[in-house]
Amino acid sequence: MYAEVVFPLPFRNSFTYSIPLDYEDIIQQGTRVVVPFGKRILSGFVTGLKKEVDIKNQIRDIIDIIDDTPVFDDISLKFYEWLANYYLCSLGEALRNSIPPGLEVESKRQIIADTDFCSKLYIEEENKDCIKAKILQFFSLKEKANISFLQKAVNKKNIYSTLKNLEKLGAIEIQDSIADVKVKAKKVKFVELADSLDRTYGIIAEIEKKSPKQVIILLELLSRKNKSVKLSDLLEKTNSSMTSINSLESKNLVRVFDKEVERIHVELYKEEATNFELTNQQAEVVNTVSKSIDKNEFIPYLLYGVTGSGKTHVYIELAKKALSLNKTVLILVPEISLTPQIMTRFINTFKNKVTLIHSRMSMGERYDSWRGVINGKYKVVIGPRSAIFAPLKNIGLIVVDEEHDASYKQNDLTPKFNARDSAVIKAQIYNCPIILGSATPSVESMHNALTNKYKLLTLPERVDSAQMPIIRLIDIIEAKKIKQMENNFSKVLIEEIKNRVEKKEGVIILQNRRGFSTQLFCEDCGEIEVCPDCSANLVHHLDKNILRCHYCGFSKPVPRFCSKCGSIHLKFFGTGTQRIEDELSYYLPNYKIERVDSDSIDTKGKFGTIMNSFRNGEIDILVGTQIVSKGLDFSNVTLVGVISAETTLWIPDFRADERTFQLLTQVSGRAGRSKAEGEVLIQTQNPNNFTLQKVVTNDYKGFYEREIKMRELNHYPPFAKLALIETKAEDENQARTAANQFYDILRKKATPLMINNPIPAGIPKIKKNYRFHILIKSPKSIDPAAKLLRNTIMDAYSEYNQKAQYKDVRIIIDIDPHTIM
Ligand code: ADP
Ligand code: ZN
Ligand code: ZN
Repeated sequence: MYAEVVFPLPFRNSFTYSIPLDYEDIIQQGTRVVVPFGKRILSGFVTGLKKEVDIKNQIRDIIDIIDDTPVFDDISLKFYEWLANYYLCSLGEALRNSIPPGLEVESKRQIIADTDFCSKLYIEEENKDCIKAKILQFFSLKEKANISFLQKAVNKKNIYSTLKNLEKLGAIEIQDSIADVKVKAKKVKFVELADSLDRTYGIIAEIEKKSPKQVIILLELLSRKNKSVKLSDLLEKTNSSMTSINSLESKNLVRVFDKEVERIHVELYKEEATNFELTNQQAEVVNTVSKSIDKNEFIPYLLYGVTGSGKTHVYIELAKKALSLNKTVLILVPEISLTPQIMTRFINTFKNKVTLIHSRMSMGERYDSWRGVINGKYKVVIGPRSAIFAPLKNIGLIVVDEEHDASYKQNDLTPKFNARDSAVIKAQIYNCPIILGSATPSVESMHNALTNKYKLLTLPERVDSAQMPIIRLIDIIEAKKIKQMENNFSKVLIEEIKNRVEKKEGVIILQNRRGFSTQLFCEDCGEIEVCPDCSANLVHHLDKNILRCHYCGFSKPVPRFCSKCGSIHLKFFGTGTQRIEDELSYYLPNYKIERVDSDSIDTKGKFGTIMNSFRNGEIDILVGTQIVSKGLDFSNVTLVGVISAETTLWIPDFRADERTFQLLTQVSGRAGRSKAEGEVLIQTQNPNNFTLQKVVTNDYKGFYEREIKMRELNHYPPFAKLALIETKAEDENQARTAANQFYDILRKKATPLMINNPIPAGIPKIKKNYRFHILIKSPKSIDPAAKLLRNTIMDAYSEYNQKAQYKDVRIIIDIDPHTIM
């Protein structure tokens, strides 16, 4: 027998290996195996088996097996194949997602050095500053190192070509090993009686004479009848030692054994369960989708329901329906740790049938919840984009809540998938309905609904006859002129906040920037403090009194002199959440203000705790970044204030208007969710801006209609597919040259694709790497399935790789990029 194996690496082919006889019964499609590959040893996925191959002599044996049960099945393989084809990664890179984090067994490379030889070469090397010299110096003293350690030691990432050269010289050897898995099932020792209750009772008198301590243990176990007890609990309760247990065991009176325990993630946010009748509008939606669940039919529904229309309740009713038919349910939410309410409502309803899968859980918790899904214990999975890979079988319903949210797109790792779009494909493969829900549907999804690719469902009203809030813009340029601004607050806004908190109503303030000041500026020479590794301003964080880069995390103490001219006239500019919090506590010293941004909620469970206190009224005002715009449902919130509408409006990106509309509409939606009327005050320098006007009038339709025209005019989605090619390297010139080369190859293909000239990226340097972009647009009218786009890129990519001049330049392909910065 032979196995087809793919690797979680960028090469696209599969490779054939022969299966040793001993393994024939165990290896199946979906098993992970360890195999030789050139000089290396790799772990890979078996994607298929076959009996015959053409050329037998070059085929090597599988060395080892990693899993005793397959990690994916036929139907999920289809999904991973789609993912690889669509996002242009290898099948192995897509399949890497089929196992929970911690179970990857990566092949690790180690470098073994000939220290004497390295030291000799180091002495001979003329340029002691070059990377080769640094590596040689390192290995003059050290015999062994893994690559990442070495990368850190010499402070450079791209060292492979230098290492390869040194290997050729015989100075070092690069070796492979398979690193062990990081997580395992958790086992705990338990104790139970080995004999029957009667016989154990019978023997007590005899034991009591010699070892009274052991009797205490026996009595405790007897009091629990036939139930086993955790060893540590037993020892504590009876105040005894392991010696007593051991001797009881040797007398065959008790048995000590391993029992697997599940690590369960506990969320800190808690709400009472509520029960209510569906409104007529909700019932209609539930009815329609229920029929699709019944019939196992793939229909993508776009649920356009205003904020507070009770979308969560609809999801829950439909999930109940799917479960009643013995099917499973997948619920995707933007960032789960930021949406404790929807999560809590699912947990309240489905109790131990629902599990979370998200990155703030420990590796062990995720592993256990993953296995609970595989063995059918969990029927409902709720989580952010990575939960799309949860190994659910027999899926009856998929929900993507807040489908417009940017966090569904994976930007950093390969494949750069969009979980919303992938979920639609997943539903198609599993033959089930999918609901994309939002109060501010993405332009793409609404277009799909209006062109009948999706089916549109609407919830146009808030439940419980709550009214939509009244939204007003405050022109801060005008306010400044007439002295109605104090720091970042207009008098109107501050008065209104006072007014609300005095009445014990909740207030939410949005400023979509972290930190205190966003710039440190020299008044004498004009220098702005920037990150040494990125082209980004350093942001002042008051709590730690440091300047920090929001792209790479670099930080340093606030300088007292300008780093360029030495002047002491340094000035802070730009406003972040910390400053808003600070100013507010000056104006409202007697009220409790809490800040929520990724700096303030860095510890596990912190956000849930803050949400609890806000609901109880222990916190009066929440100040935060876009985190406060997401899904919060607190009936006592009556005022939402936006410090500056410009934080998203001025981003040079084709989605800037859409994101502004979504953010402001969503944050406004937090106000007035009950009888008390809600109010929203948005401070801006552009009160006549079209997007802001549409936010004020709550006119999604008007916004959409203009936006879709602009998209058509400028060849943006949904009228064209986009792909972004990025070249990235520490050497600016290499990155630029590579971009030009790639561009030339693309141009020669003479396709009708629209290929933009290579340009430095919006943020030209991140983490020491220079970035260049080539944007490709593929009009839907000529390339409806974007096949031409993908084929052209793949052809160009392999041609580029054959010619590539610089080995240290990385080429990154992003299909459907969310931003083109
Ligand atoms: P959305 O996600 O659409 O903004 P939610 O799902 O958060 O809205 O619902 C808003 C509020 O309305 C919640 O507090 C929810 O408990 C409540 N709610 C939902 N459906 C009903 C109903 N049929 N009757 C009464 N209250 C409801
Ligand atoms: Zn200066
Ligand atoms: Zn940086």
